[in-house]
Amino acid sequence: MTARKVAQFIQAQAVSEGAGVTVHRTIGTPARRNLDPFLMLDHFSSDDPDDYIAGFPDHPHRGFVTLTYMLDGHMLHQDSMGNRGDLRAGGAQWMKAASGVIHSEMPQQSNGLMRGFQLWVNLPASEKMSDPGYQEFSPEAIPEIAGNGVRVRLLAGEYGGKSGPIADPNTKVQYLDVSLEAGVAFSRELDPAATAFVYVFEGSASLDGSELPQHRLAVLGAGDSVELTAGEAGARFILVAGLPLNEPIVQYGPFVMNSREEIEQAMQDYRDDRLVQKKATMTGN
Ligand code: MN
Repeated sequence: MTARKVAQFIQAQAVSEGAGVTVHRTIGTPARRNLDPFLMLDHFSSDDPDDYIAGFPDHPHRGFVTLTYMLDGHMLHQDSMGNRGDLRAGGAQWMKAASGVIHSEMPQQSNGLMRGFQLWVNLPASEKMSDPGYQEFSPEAIPEIAGNGVRVRLLAGEYGGKSGPIADPNTKVQYLDVSLEAGVAFSRELDPAATAFVYVFEGSASLDGSELPQHRLAVLGAGDSVELTAGEAGARFILVAGLPLNEPIVQYGPFVMNSREEIEQAMQDYRDDRLVQKKATMTGN
């Protein structure tokens, strides 16, 4: 086995999103425009309501999947497919925007800690204009595997004989929330073909002699495994991997397609109120 080393560190940038929500962005910044198949990683973490209270009112997406993991707090999701989702601490949401979705993500608390991640996962060209989809997973739906100073919450992929509930057939995404007690080591195999990264958000960890502090994303280099050791205060991090799509990526804000023409089409469709092609089916009176 060849343990992966850190190929690149990406320092998080504070970005104002939505109606004025402060997020810490790593993938999707000038330091790293994308990390195929990942397009963006935002970490939100604040106990100051001014940082999150404005939320994310109605906005569009086309061409990819958003994967949201709530660590703390309470968010209400509503979208043009007719879904209404209650995102609570420990739960996750998988939204395939594909041909087009307009949605809102609004905090349901006026104080306290709001913390989590939003990851954008690209779709292959053949799926970009397919029908959108939505899945929500309660905290109880996410397997937790604990022992020997290691606790893993498994959002996607396999670990300890269990499977995470989120499945992406195109990129085979693996998404683990790993907590380690002080000085505890953690290792696992990784598909050598997969892009992989680690983002520490509590404590600190080291990987092949490199310190992994908080708010810094470590892109992993070549190899078929990853080995980390927690620092003195323990560590909590997400470990994410996925197969690259190796297709052209053209992004304009919330639209991610394969060509400039397709981006212009998305903008035109949005202006003409035709972005959402698969609307909610209204039933009853
Ligand atoms: Mn959104």
